[in-house]
Amino acid sequence: MKKFLPLLLSALIILTSCGKKPQEEYPQAINDNYKNYYEIYVGAFRDSDGDGVGDIRGIIEKLDYLNDGNPKTSDDLGITGIWLMPIMPSDTYHKYDTKDYEAVDEQFGSIEDFEELSKKCSERGIDLIIDLVLNHSSSGHPWFKSAEKTLREAKADESIEELVAKNKYVGYYNFSKKKETNKWYQVPGSDGWYYEGVFWDKMPDLNLDNEDVRSEIVNIGKFWIDKGVKGFRLDATTWFYSENVSQNTEFLNWLTTEYKKIKPDIYMVGEAWTSETIIADMYKSGLPSFFDFPMSNSTGSIIKSVKTSSGKGLASQIEDWQKLIREKNPDAIDAPFLTNHDNARSFGALSRKTELAKMAASVYMLMPGNSFMYYGEEIGMTGSGIDENKRQPLVWSKTNSKGTAKPVKGSTNTDTPEKGVEEQLKDDSSLLSFYKQIIRAKDLNPEIARGTVKTVDLGNDATCAYSSEYNGVKVFIIHNLGKESIDIDLPGDIFKNVEIRAELKTNNGKMTLKDNKLSMPQQSTIILREKK
Ligand code: CA
Repeated sequence: MKKFLPLLLSALIILTSCGKKPQEEYPQAINDNYKNYYEIYVGAFRDSDGDGVGDIRGIIEKLDYLNDGNPKTSDDLGITGIWLMPIMPSDTYHKYDTKDYEAVDEQFGSIEDFEELSKKCSERGIDLIIDLVLNHSSSGHPWFKSAEKTLREAKADESIEELVAKNKYVGYYNFSKKKETNKWYQVPGSDGWYYEGVFWDKMPDLNLDNEDVRSEIVNIGKFWIDKGVKGFRLDATTWFYSENVSQNTEFLNWLTTEYKKIKPDIYMVGEAWTSETIIADMYKSGLPSFFDFPMSNSTGSIIKSVKTSSGKGLASQIEDWQKLIREKNPDAIDAPFLTNHDNARSFGALSRKTELAKMAASVYMLMPGNSFMYYGEEIGMTGSGIDENKRQPLVWSKTNSKGTAKPVKGSTNTDTPEKGVEEQLKDDSSLLSFYKQIIRAKDLNPEIARGTVKTVDLGNDATCAYSSEYNGVKVFIIHNLGKESIDIDLPGDIFKNVEIRAELKTNNGKMTLKDNKLSMPQQSTIILREKK
């Protein structure tokens, strides 16, 4: 991409009502934090140098697949945001335990590669966010190694305060002479010193109350913002203060305030894998987004509604959730997803049925806020059980293995999708092609992501219907989750002078709208808009 193209995507051809020449319409660039995100585990996405491990250069190679920056083409996926899982140096394959917060793991590339990726994303209107793991470092981090050494050399009667005075890094972690809980581990070779490691003994928890740690966190933020990131995905926010909601919220408020001083339009999304009540409370921190865990996964409302063809309750749930989080933070942006790197992949939960996968995608991506799709979801990859199985190499092609990474060591899943990216790009009825359609429909109708939602009761349990109003423009999203086609009389007091903006059909079948009489095929979605 040689030329700067502010945003987006591709064309949707809208036939004019008089049936003359098709009019092409392209999404307008809106400079805000509403994006369609794509989560990448770098090690599995694309291997540029053939060593079997995906890398940052691989992502650069495949940016044209994600978003080519040209709104007039339609052969790219069209995503407008990328979340990179951890890229900092680490001894683990997943890298959720960093040894250096201001570098790139050499397996994945160099800081120069990252700068290039960041620049190229920006040229295409893609916001790049990276995983930031602040709950803990690696036990191999020089801070921890230095602290450990001081504790090993400590005299029997030396207090923690005396040791911190000797070496500030002792204050970076939580040490005690007592094994406080079963998540505390002995410092090897020390005289009865223990440290907190909530996730694992190789992931010592940072002492987030320590002033020096807080300065480090500010500097780390500045470092990556200078490298061009739009913001961060914050790992394990409920564990910052061991599930103490008010302390976690206070910390996130501090972090948001500090990072906004560096980058006023920063975007951040928090992982709070917990209940609706706690997530809603944490929105008080001012952090823009939290992942919508209650809606996600095989047990969440989206997949359940799609599988049981019951949409009615879902619409009011979407409305209620938006109302609640906006009460806590008027600028709250919901972050719905189907599954992520910690969950069994959604295609399995959706009985490996393409039409169900299409329907689920349509439901969560057309919810208000920022949808987060997990790499491989768009081609129906599967994987469950151990984590390694959920992070399998993206299948670029069924006939050409060039650029496809090797599976993570220890993974046991040998199942691969019927068709890879290459094959699905050529097939208009593929799951991948359907994802492209949804994203384009969403970007042509900015009200979907940004608007205020209101449930519409169409008197049919299989439909999930709501309006979304933004800047005085109202769109309607109607999903037919049922296995049969339906005919609905749209109430004239709600649907005034509406036009079709997009049809998303998981199967063949006809979608028609005439004089407010709407016919929808089985498992389909229609987007309507009030004409001005
Ligand atoms: Ca590589």
